[in-house]
Amino acid sequence: MAIQSWRIRDRYYRLVGSRCASCGAEYFPPVYRCRECGSDKMKDKEMPKTGRIVTYTQLHEPLPGFEAQVPFYLALVELENGARVLTQVVDSPDEAVKTGAKVKATVRRAKVEGESGQIIYGYKFIVA
Ligand SMILES: [Zn+2]
Repeated sequence: MAIQSWRIRDRYYRLVGSRCASCGAEYFPPVYRCRECGSDKMKDKEMPKTGRIVTYTQLHEPLPGFEAQVPFYLALVELENGARVLTQVVDSPDEAVKTGAKVKATVRRAKVEGESGQIIYGYKFIVA
């Protein structure tokens, strides 16, 4: 149990995905079986912190836990290794948020957890 939650935390702080030991394909979030070659020999691999926006949308409707942050950008980012991450893009001027823009990962306050009020941190991206 403790190991599992640590692994999940690690994934969000350090952007840890997985790499296929057979063919080298990389994934984020991590997968247990390679979608390229079917191998289950997956190893943890820290993802590159930079990439480009593939597509994005601006959300105006608050999601639970994100009420204070609307509107915000939700983007599909392709990292330098080809792995794709669905992520928030923050602290970037509206005109800079566009398809093909270079972005880099940063650790930010992600949301406040329900009734406990615990602040959860996670990765977000800013336009580089
Ligand atoms: Zn593979």
